[in-house]
Amino acid sequence: MRRPHRTLLGLMVGFLLVSVLVAVYFSYPWLRSGVGRVKQLGEWLNNPTAHADWAITAGERCGAAPFILPTNGYVGFIWGDSFRPGHQHQGIDIFGGEAPGRTPVVAAHAGYLTRLPEWKSTVIIRVPADPLDPNQQVWTYYTHMADQNGSSYVSPEFPPGTSEVFVEQGTFLGYQGDYSGDPDNPVGVHLHFSIVKDDGQGSFRNELEIRNTLDPSPYLGLPLNDNQNAGGIAVCPPTQGSP
Ligand SMILES: [Zn+2]
Repeated sequence: MRRPHRTLLGLMVGFLLVSVLVAVYFSYPWLRSGVGRVKQLGEWLNNPTAHADWAITAGERCGAAPFILPTNGYVGFIWGDSFRPGHQHQGIDIFGGEAPGRTPVVAAHAGYLTRLPEWKSTVIIRVPADPLDPNQQVWTYYTHMADQNGSSYVSPEFPPGTSEVFVEQGTFLGYQGDYSGDPDNPVGVHLHFSIVKDDGQGSFRNELEIRNTLDPSPYLGLPLNDNQNAGGIAVCPPTQGSP
């Protein structure tokens, strides 16, 4: 009578072990990158001036990258970061380290700006010829440019309903804010920036899915892909040529 019990116990232990391994496997990317970056972000937000060398600068161009950097601050989260198992961050989050409505946001690349009538904190810019693949059209997406109650920090030049207005690279778009859609639960003050694929019919795909976005690393000249940057701070490499 002991054998069946032992077999049952063995099965249960085996099942538990497999469950734990599966859970670890699926949460590993979250543990690996999420927690490390959250800790570093806390240090930045606590005292930005003590970590000035962690920050990027609006309008700066890293090396020969086609895009300029869209705002000032510390790149707290990058493309592919996972804040919860099963979800991957589809853009980058740049935290200015200032109060809402202070840190300017500029166009990373020239294109045609649209702000849908219901958008309080967001603009999107159509780039007809992707500088890295001129055969395709891409979109650059900028959001969280409003305060927690939804008062917009988007430049008054681009009121709700703006459609296809040409803007040069470096055009002022607005200021970083903390708008999340829920006034009681604002996000930390930052810009979320992403590069969104075209749907092939002249519109942009759903930005919320990472598969509808592109790795921003080669566009901005920064290590912004979670698969290749496990915890390094994303700043422009030092310029070559100076003795
Ligand atoms: Zn984001």
